[in-house]
Amino acid sequence: MKRKVLVIEDEPDMVRGLRDAMSFEGFDVRSASTGAEGIAIAAADPPQMVILDLMLPDMNGYQVCEKLRAALPQLLIIMLTARHQEADKIRGLDAGADDYVTKPFSVGELLARINAAFRRIDLIESSSVAPRIRIGDAELDTKKHLLVANRREHQLSFYEVELLKLLFERAGAPVSRDEILEKIWGLAAAPTNRTVDNFIVKLRRKLGDDPKSPRHILTVYGFGYKLVP
Ligand code: CA
Repeated sequence: MKRKVLVIEDEPDMVRGLRDAMSFEGFDVRSASTGAEGIAIAAADPPQMVILDLMLPDMNGYQVCEKLRAALPQLLIIMLTARHQEADKIRGLDAGADDYVTKPFSVGELLARINAAFRRIDLIESSSVAPRIRIGDAELDTKKHLLVANRREHQLSFYEVELLKLLFERAGAPVSRDEILEKIWGLAAAPTNRTVDNFIVKLRRKLGDDPKSPRHILTVYGFGYKLVP
């Protein structure tokens, strides 16, 4: 079974380049040139992953991301952004994106992230780890990606669940940013890569953990993070 990947992007050259590279890798690639078309294609025949451009002619990528995430909680979404501001990336991740790649990027870099994400999914599907995790008063159903904290339900993305699981497995011990990047995203650490920190910000918010004096996800300065369940 080929993996289905949907590319939502309006620049024809970019779409052609991505289609060629991903088809060559063995993916079943479809494309849409507007947000509305992408949402319709995803609803009719759900893909496993969406490569989503932030700048589309009819809607912005954040809106598209929110709609896709609401309809397909398990979908992997990688956002393409031409912007460098940290705020835009955090907003994209808040909208439900699992990862982002800043333009201009190499196709090789994007393919490495796509393959790493799919490898993680294969590992999860073949594992038999206890599906529920308790952190303070919060409970995470790792199969449904559902976190219940302070009587509120939060649908978590794939990487949020994986990050919490990794910290939980090592509860009480610090886990370095480099190790998190490598194990969760399959990426080599880069000095500019703030992905881990952005995900911690989101997880603390959903857990109701005060970022100024967190009780559950503690910062280990200059190193990484430590979970105290
Ligand atoms: Ca575009």
